[in-house]
Amino acid sequence: MNINLTVQCDECSNITNCRCGMSNRDYQPLKFTCRSCGNAIGINFDVKDGDSLDTMALAAMLSAKNKRKPPKLNQGVKRRVTGATEVVREQPFNPETDFVDLHLDFPVVFGKYVMGNTPYMQASMRSGAEKAAFHRDRLGLINAQYKKYPQVIKLIGMYNNGFHGPFAELARKTFKVEIKSKRLEDINAALYRVVSHFVLPFTLPDTSQGVSRKFTDTMMDLLQNKKQEMGAFLQKLSDTEYLAHLQRDCLKIYKPIFHAELPLRPALFLDLDMSYVEGEVPMRVSTNDFEEYKEVYKDMAEILSRQLVLVAGLNNVLKRGDHDAFARGVWVTAKGKDQAPENLEAYADVPLGNKPRFLDDSWFDLDPVAHDNKLRNGIAHAKIDYNEVTQKITYYPKLEGMERASKEEIFLLDYMRRMLALFREVHRLHHLIKCLNYAILLEPGASLVKKTQ
Ligand SMILES: [Zn+2]
Repeated sequence: MNINLTVQCDECSNITNCRCGMSNRDYQPLKFTCRSCGNAIGINFDVKDGDSLDTMALAAMLSAKNKRKPPKLNQGVKRRVTGATEVVREQPFNPETDFVDLHLDFPVVFGKYVMGNTPYMQASMRSGAEKAAFHRDRLGLINAQYKKYPQVIKLIGMYNNGFHGPFAELARKTFKVEIKSKRLEDINAALYRVVSHFVLPFTLPDTSQGVSRKFTDTMMDLLQNKKQEMGAFLQKLSDTEYLAHLQRDCLKIYKPIFHAELPLRPALFLDLDMSYVEGEVPMRVSTNDFEEYKEVYKDMAEILSRQLVLVAGLNNVLKRGDHDAFARGVWVTAKGKDQAPENLEAYADVPLGNKPRFLDDSWFDLDPVAHDNKLRNGIAHAKIDYNEVTQKITYYPKLEGMERASKEEIFLLDYMRRMLALFREVHRLHHLIKCLNYAILLEPGASLVKKTQ
């Protein structure tokens, strides 16, 4: 269902025609920027029974066959415009007037108004009807869950602060999850049950499951066949509290991801759009916020960098039977200096961009989209510009003093896709932390740790 309207900018009086595609969400804050003056304009829809919007539209179309009874498409839909004033709608839209397509769920292309060529139509033509239906179901899950995000965040906070009593209470009352005992492994199990449930629509379930299996298998194999070596690694992780701190920080990424639910929706669609090539067709997100997601990206990249220490430690145990032993000769400078870190601690200080180099023939496949070090550098060094009208992000990956020579450009949608990929990688590796934690907490891991003392 689409709602067309015409607005006049409060700052410069410029007229913009808007075609708003309705999502099945009961509150829909759409945003765009005035092309003439850069003013932020919002169209906020309040939809009664948002999840039945499609059914309502269908009923309205069917009743439209009855000529004497015109369809009441917008029944139960309220809207409020900010930064602009709604004026009498151009009928039909004049192709010369500024135009924006807006839809929370799909990427929308820039350009002139074409009747019938709605964002939904364009998207389902790119993905095919079956995949578009999958996308709708996945977002349906988000629509059903998003109001509970604050409770999930509260639960994580209680866990992180060690308030296990209130944690158990909240898990039981709000999420219907009973905790078997006060033992940490049972509390962990409850926590991850809730988190996985709410994170599910943002992940690729097949990949997550495959990865969990791989971690468990690798761990079991090592615990059986390299007992002492694995014991020493677990001991190290336990003594330094590296794992505990990292787990706490990993758990903090869910809050900003839930917070970014709206701009991530069109990025989720790109999972299904096989015709998508980054930067080829500029497409926009129907919200404008970028600034607040910069920090999220940086924080997640920082966590990824720390997670790679675990990947490297395991890789070293697998290949050389010692978590501190890195392969020599993988990176030797022109002057003949071997750059391989002395031990795992030294590896922890290696910049993220260089870390994958020292994972020789790694047991874990890194996702190249998630390991975008240029973008991370651009953000970390605050060398990044954002144009709100075009949604173009320009970043300068290299530290070049005052010059800004080599620049890269992506759109907000591409950025959201990369953020999603980074989140998925951090979430995948969070499974590894979970596995290592179990190995430490449970037999035979616990006894191994004691044995090496
Ligand atoms: Zn304006």
